[in-house]
Amino acid sequence: MGDRPREIDTLIEMMARLPGLGPRSARRAVLHLVKKREVLLVPLAEAMRRVGETVRECARCGNITTSEICEICADAARGNGELCVVEDVADLWAMERGGAFKGRYHVLGGTLSALDSVGPDELRIPDLVDRVRGEGISEVILALNATVDGQTTAHYIAEELQASGVRLSSLAQGVPIGGELDYLDDGTISAALKARKGF
Ligand SMILES: [Zn+2]
Repeated sequence: MGDRPREIDTLIEMMARLPGLGPRSARRAVLHLVKKREVLLVPLAEAMRRVGETVRECARCGNITTSEICEICADAARGNGELCVVEDVADLWAMERGGAFKGRYHVLGGTLSALDSVGPDELRIPDLVDRVRGEGISEVILALNATVDGQTTAHYIAEELQASGVRLSSLAQGVPIGGELDYLDDGTISAALKARKGF
């Protein structure tokens, strides 16, 4: 290029990989950061460094945490036998915003996808089967998105868990087709949870 320092180009290229940002928004964001060096760029870099050093996945459920086990897994009051299976941490956050769910979670880390060659071992499905066996789980709530891949994954999990005899349920309709949990308002999530049905 020549018209920009190499360091700035590198930053723009990295920012452009973020969801929702393309090259154009990345250029704007980086220029803004450089202009707001002291109030934004330096504190942001520091915040990112700290997250990079401290944040990891909960060894049990896959939630984001700064300790070995996340707060939800560590909270004895949430060991009520209910386990809610979600695709992603964003969905866990959405369920928590709703405030209606009092059990624990299992974050798969995605959905089965033939197209992207994601199989059960790429997700936390074997861990899920182990947890249901070992943690005295009475009900597994499949809170997967109403997409084709989400529903394929739900059916696969249901088959895997059939032998365990655990009760299986899914969120009630009200979750729009193709809708992602993260986009639902809190009341809708709570209603879909209360009206959950056998899977
Ligand atoms: Zn956890």
